[in-house]
Amino acid sequence: MRNIYLDNASTTSVRPEVVQEMTKVLTENYGNPSSTHALGRKSKSILELSRKSIAQNLNATAQEVIFTSCGTEANNWILRSAVKDLNVKRIITSKIEHHAVLYAVFVLKKEYDIQVDFINVKPDGEIDITHLVELLSQDRKTLVSLMHVNNEVGTVLDLEHVSMICKEHGALFHSDTVQSVGKTRIDLQKCTVDFIVASAHKFHGPKGVGFAFIRKNSGLQPLFFGGDQEKGLRAGTEALHQIAGMAKALEYSCLNMAEEREYILDLKEYLISQLKSQFPTFKINGDINGFYTILNVLLPFTEDKTAMILFHLDMKGIAVSRGSACQSGSIKPSHVLAEILSEEDLKKPSLRISLSYSNTKDDVDAFIDALKTI
Ligand code: PLP
Repeated sequence: MRNIYLDNASTTSVRPEVVQEMTKVLTENYGNPSSTHALGRKSKSILELSRKSIAQNLNATAQEVIFTSCGTEANNWILRSAVKDLNVKRIITSKIEHHAVLYAVFVLKKEYDIQVDFINVKPDGEIDITHLVELLSQDRKTLVSLMHVNNEVGTVLDLEHVSMICKEHGALFHSDTVQSVGKTRIDLQKCTVDFIVASAHKFHGPKGVGFAFIRKNSGLQPLFFGGDQEKGLRAGTEALHQIAGMAKALEYSCLNMAEEREYILDLKEYLISQLKSQFPTFKINGDINGFYTILNVLLPFTEDKTAMILFHLDMKGIAVSRGSACQSGSIKPSHVLAEILSEEDLKKPSLRISLSYSNTKDDVDAFIDALKTI
């Protein structure tokens, strides 16, 4: 049975060039980047070249890129240190953030008794910017945390605009860019966001590695204490093969971005047209012009089909998701869909189909054929 992978927002396949690079580093460059001997110095050089390459692709400086074990760690670090060390007394966020932000904010509220305000979310999943401006009129040291691309419904935030608003109001701005890094251009000179985070496995790199962009002179302090790695901001021996793989993955993603974007967008349009012709009453959850890799749809099936639909597709070798990966095994409705759908629609089956350059129209056809047999 052919595997049809339509769950690229959960994770992506690793590019062969990335595997090659990682294998080379694992085999040849086992020196500790902190060691002063030749093997160590070679590893240090790979580490710093990787940092430089990532920084260049985001128009940042190398010293602003700090490697972490994943996007979750980077989000938690930034939010926690902002409250603990930067005197942030209030976090403005939304109820459709990834749990790596939402749960971290809940814990910080409990631990530090900070104020947490939620921005209104429109029915299409868009953040209500007028409400953000209203909230920012309060005079308290504030951090705004809003994701760039929503991982479940693909709504896109105007990063530059929100950065500008935050700057005008003296608020810090953190954006979870896990779904957008490597898939859309981010220029950190043009955009004044203070902190962003990325995760390599979302852009055809390895799992278990990510990075945080920490704007120069932010004052952020480490979460872990130990060695002096990452300029003292993130102790622990660097996972060199993962980092080199991540740099290579971002390099290829940026190099092929325009071409792959066009290809994937065309595939998404084909998917929508096929859904329209086979299931005319289906609905798109979120913005109909959402991010090009993600399509979340409400299918015109009865409620009793909700639980078995993923299972049925899985039996046919088709991997899609009902929401974020961590929720797909649970029957709890998605917290994102709960914010934007009516009670009635929430009970009906919704699916997230997320695409990559390796998908084809045949994949879409197989998915549609499988849906027709439900
Ligand atoms: N933020 C978003 C928007 C995500 O989609 C994910 C992954 O699902 C994460 C954070 C967590 O990233 P990681 O898997 O690297 O911890």
